Amino acid sequence: YQAKRNSRPLVAYTLAQDPADRDRLALAGQLPRAVSQREFILHFQPIAELGSGQVIGAEALARWRHPTRGELSPGAFLDLLERSTQLSAFTAAVLEDALAAAAMWRAAGHDLRVSVNISARSLLDASLPRQVLTVLEAHHTRPDRLCLELTETLAISQLDTVDQVLTQLHDIGVQLALDDFGTGFSSLAVLSRIPVDQLKVDRSFVQALADLGDSGGPAGAAAVVDPVDPGSDAVAISQAKAVVRSTVQLGRTLDLGVVAEGIEATPQRRLLWELGCPAGQGHLFGPPQPADELLGLLTRGEGGRAGAVAAPLAPS
Ligand code: C2E
Ligand code: MG
Ligand code: MG
Ligand code: MG
Repeated sequence: YQAKRNSRPLVAYTLAQDPADRDRLALAGQLPRAVSQREFILHFQPIAELGSGQVIGAEALARWRHPTRGELSPGAFLDLLERSTQLSAFTAAVLEDALAAAAMWRAAGHDLRVSVNISARSLLDASLPRQVLTVLEAHHTRPDRLCLELTETLAISQLDTVDQVLTQLHDIGVQLALDDFGTGFSSLAVLSRIPVDQLKVDRSFVQALADLGDSGGPAGAAAVVDPVDPGSDAVAISQAKAVVRSTVQLGRTLDLGVVAEGIEATPQRRLLWELGCPAGQGHLFGPPQPADELLGLLTRGEGGRAGAVAAPLAPS
């Protein structure tokens, strides 16, 4: 009993000793200010048809424009936000900014579907569907122009609770995507429970297809570690191909869109395309960037083709 009673202050004390943790405590304390001062902004990464190079959508990715620390990526603040009372205000701001950007692109002649990442905890909020509907109406946007990306690992743990919210969102006509597909324990179980419209092939599988074109050495011998996320497991090339192939097959059978993430080089794009993957995103097509920069990219177009970010692939 004694130990239990004392454990909390001890933990807080220990946490505050480690400079990295002190740092995170400080950041957590600044979240309310960050939300109210609009320090969170969105960058948008183009999503293109792999064959034509035409942009069909954009994923909104949050950044924290911190007054003293510069621009922070979600890895530095997302888990803090998710455990804070600021999450719903953050999610509301992200939805508003994403749909404002989509309306701006549409007014300039580019009717893109905008994808927004939604934390599992936001799905516990029964008012989310109503909130989404209100934002869509405010921007005169068709519901299917919005896609909500759900992380499968998180979604599954609370499937019963989020079922209703997801069904309501789906009934509104909003698209639902399973993010990081293939990395969770029960991707297929989740699929049978959630009204999903799109699968996003996780970057780790795409990364494993790097540098190989079609001749990547002995099957299964090579493995590539994600440089951005070195903690993630390396994936063997043969496994990566198998995952992409079956995800594409699953997409065809269940009539779902399939989007590959993290495409950095043309050989990856070509191989994904040859495996039947229709669409993708990654630095090859463009990094996450402010909404107006993306509009500039679309307006200039690749090789004079408005709305394209890459030349069409020639059949091999
Ligand atoms: P995600 O949804 O899987 O997003 C893809 C991540 O891959 C992004 O990282 C993006 O910048 C990065 N990326 C894009 N192209 C490439 C590439 O060619 N190579 C490599 N190595 N990486 C690429 P980012 O922006 O750091 O976001 C990380 C995660 O944070 C996202 O993963 C998403 O789960 C989460 N996130 C981002 N914005 C939001 C948000 O507004 N709300 C919520 N709830 N989560 C968000
Ligand atoms: Mg995503
Ligand atoms: Mg993803
Ligand atoms: Mg991913």
